Amino acid sequence: MPTALITGITGQDGAYLSQLLLGKGYRVVGLLRRSASADVIGERLRWLGILDDVELLDGNMTDLSSLIRIVETVKPDEIYNLAAQSFVAASWQQPLLTGNVTGIGTVNMLEAARIVKSDARFYQASSSEMYGLIQEPVQNEKTPFYPRSPYAAAKLYAHWMTVNYRESFGMHASSGILFNHESPLRGIEFVTRKVTDGVARIKLGLAKELALGNLDATRDWGHARDYVRAMYLMLQQSVPDDYVIATGRTTSIRDLCRIAFSSVGLNYEDHVVTNPAFLRPAEVEVLLGDASKAKKALGWEPETTLEGMITEMVEADLVRHRKRHSL
Ligand code: NDP
Repeated sequence: MPTALITGITGQDGAYLSQLLLGKGYRVVGLLRRSASADVIGERLRWLGILDDVELLDGNMTDLSSLIRIVETVKPDEIYNLAAQSFVAASWQQPLLTGNVTGIGTVNMLEAARIVKSDARFYQASSSEMYGLIQEPVQNEKTPFYPRSPYAAAKLYAHWMTVNYRESFGMHASSGILFNHESPLRGIEFVTRKVTDGVARIKLGLAKELALGNLDATRDWGHARDYVRAMYLMLQQSVPDDYVIATGRTTSIRDLCRIAFSSVGLNYEDHVVTNPAFLRPAEVEVLLGDASKAKKALGWEPETTLEGMITEMVEADLVRHRKRHSL
């Protein structure tokens, strides 16, 4: 039975990846950072019904000694490094913490693997935010990077360090340059969840309007369930490499609102208001990925449409609010 170590197991991708790997017969061990709010730990794993099927070990991305201890204990065949301070807006409020967790934290994990188990296959969660100020209308593995936030700059450092560990130490280390991916398990602070949660609240009469920032920013949004499959496929290749994972379809936040509101018979123009407080200091206007390399080399294809995903998210938020408010 292969063993996978997942950092960021309590996040959106960590939960879906655990589900995928458990289904393939893996032993799944996750890194858990200590929290005083122990009662909410593992909420996403619980939602998927797999909390009792994974092992959780205490540690922190900023503490190399904890990562070394965990790799020594677990002896993983595969390491999926998903932990990060992953919210762009928060990275402007906490740039140093973001650098420490998202950037240096990745090097801590690479070091722990190199020192203790250098034959473990390593996946790094790189991000389309690294493209930032867009140099080319469609982005692929050869497009130059131009990060536009502390988050993106930290991810770019982690990305290049992963490449360096591969080239310098011969480690089987791959990066997935993943475009935005969402699901019912997406954090509430991200725009897709903010929209689907707002739609559910308005539909149930719990709110009247939804305040958003730049409605004209466009993103290439896929489903997290499809994207974690790409992570797994990358580590099954004999040669490590970097791959863009994207749907190749870009949609504005305005159109996202249109789809989400119309899924419950509402018109977004009656409810959405814009609030300049939600604008980013430096905006990434258009992201559109070209995943042809992954499609050819990994045989990867996205399976869920944007409409299907948004409907799934709105339905999940309706369930949550009905339960919370006993409706
Ligand atoms: P989430 O924000 O949902 O999850 C982040 C995870 O990192 C959580 O488990 C969190 O733990 C953990 N974490 C944060 N800080 C630390 C720390 N100091 N030590 C240990 N663990 C920590 O992210 P996603 O699941 O959406 O994304 C997974 C990865 O992919 C991230 O690296 C993200 O930046 C990257 N990515 C995501 C994209 C997307 O669209 N979702 C696109 C491209 C890249 P806790 O539960 O305790 O907060």
